[in-house]
Amino acid sequence: MYRTASGKPGPEYWQNSADYKLEAILDDVNHIISGMVSIHYTNNSPEMLDFIWLYLEQDRFTENSRGTLTTPVQGNRYNGDVEGGFELSNISTKTKTGTSSKYLITDTRMQLWLDRPLAAKGGEVDIKMNFKFKVPVEGMDRMGRLEVKDGTIYALAQWYPRVAVFDDVVSWNTDPYLGAGEFYCEYGNYDVKITASADQTVICSGVLQNPKEVLTKTQQERWAQAEKSDKTVYIINPEEVGKPIAHAKANGTLTWHFKMENSRDVAWAASKAFIWDAARMNLGGGKTGLAQSVYPKESDGTTAWTRSTEYTKGSVEFYSKTYFPYPYHNAINVAASVGGMEYPGVSFCHYKSRGADLWDVTDHEFGHNWFPMIVGSNERRYPWMDEGFNTFINHYSTQAFNNGEFPLSVNNPRSLIQYLNYENREGIDTYADIANSRNLAYTAYYKPATGLYILREYILGPERFDNAFKSYIHTWAYKHPQPNDFFNHMENVAGEDLSWFWKGWFYGNGNIDLGITEVKPYLGNYLITVENDGKIPMPVQLQVTFTDNTTENINLPVEIWQRGNSWTHLLKTTKQVQRVILDPNKMLPDVNVLNDTWNKI
Ligand SMILES: [Zn+2]
Repeated sequence: MYRTASGKPGPEYWQNSADYKLEAILDDVNHIISGMVSIHYTNNSPEMLDFIWLYLEQDRFTENSRGTLTTPVQGNRYNGDVEGGFELSNISTKTKTGTSSKYLITDTRMQLWLDRPLAAKGGEVDIKMNFKFKVPVEGMDRMGRLEVKDGTIYALAQWYPRVAVFDDVVSWNTDPYLGAGEFYCEYGNYDVKITASADQTVICSGVLQNPKEVLTKTQQERWAQAEKSDKTVYIINPEEVGKPIAHAKANGTLTWHFKMENSRDVAWAASKAFIWDAARMNLGGGKTGLAQSVYPKESDGTTAWTRSTEYTKGSVEFYSKTYFPYPYHNAINVAASVGGMEYPGVSFCHYKSRGADLWDVTDHEFGHNWFPMIVGSNERRYPWMDEGFNTFINHYSTQAFNNGEFPLSVNNPRSLIQYLNYENREGIDTYADIANSRNLAYTAYYKPATGLYILREYILGPERFDNAFKSYIHTWAYKHPQPNDFFNHMENVAGEDLSWFWKGWFYGNGNIDLGITEVKPYLGNYLITVENDGKIPMPVQLQVTFTDNTTENINLPVEIWQRGNSWTHLLKTTKQVQRVILDPNKMLPDVNVLNDTWNKI
């Protein structure tokens, strides 16, 4: 009833929602954020809820958090400061029946007990509290702060208490915030007010509501110009950074007001050091948006961040036209200390990235707006449903950008062979926090991306694949698909039982190992025997070269393996076979390619 065999939400599918009102003050002397969050939460589930779980991700940044205690001594990508964490006060939950302030915090999770169980199918609760935290320098490569010549760059995410997902598969998703495991959030509307000293430039996921109060006249004019320009326009140019001309007020504070609808999160950034530029995005169907970049002078330059807005625009336009219309107005690339991290409408990319690296990271982080921001899967458990899908679509975006200016990576499945032969490899189904850190790039990114590439280019063909994949995106936009929903959806639209492929490629450590056993003359024709020595069956492509140098291609369906691991094909020909090559287009990461060629001696 909740999820159908066709891979769609069922007639009784439900999802809870959370609307956020957030107010925050940035203290840029002590690097402290003080704020207030008010969450309007609706229980659409068929169950009454005794309590609501929130995520307190800033609590990772303490001496005794599980994330700190499970980070190896030598450190890793997910290092975090330990002098932080939330200070919470005035905690209350208010329902129709009464209020409660009872709660329990365990590591990065907070359980709020309600006065009485929240009604099923529409019960509403208002959650309120004040929060305060010191912005870590090292924020697990997902947020943090960076000192540059003209000031501090604050990249702010995981910055407010937010509701965990209650769903029909797991119930409350309370997996703690440890390191590699990312996020799983409910959708809702956001109203965000950020107060900072007047010399700060503030950007946020949402649409700026009060440009007349926080931008100078000149900036408002430049903004209007950028909304109509395919070429990048400065809002704050490099010469203006750090000078009074860059700000609407000479002293005191300014409050920046943003709104965002139907989003699973909001992130923001602030700095006195920001150069700010923008260009229009053409999103298809006449819809436009505004690509923007904020970066310090250290990142300036035509081989570096001067092209960031062009990259952002190219990336978002491609995905918007190819897969699903981009739903937000802003797409803002922020130069920060973070290597690369995605939020709805905002990406944090490393301020020293340049050239092809800057394209790659920008394209990747904005691609995340489709997975998991639009298609809201559970990243903490299934990183392949966001990282893998995103790495896959990045291939086509990179191919399309500026006539293929930058190199491709996913289109060479054989580059995976070394990993697939590695003794301690792990499967795609390994949760992000469990995968060995040296394997994560493969389990979460390259192996699933390559799997989709093989599925599209080798197994189904582009048309059948694209019909199914786009239908999956449209069907699960703003919803919470599980792995089986994806598998079922692809099978249903493509009209193909692909269980052999899902089971082989997405679960466990099995490999593809096809080979040619024998080629021999037979009653004036030829018998070609192929073998399957691996755990994953595959359709077989053979290229036969005859002694007169002509060639013939043979495509054998995956069903040849249904009755065993050896299959003999009758090749009808009057010619003499010189050579047979298995997988002539090098589309399969066959772990043993030594038996893939037969030559007449
Ligand atoms: Zn990613």
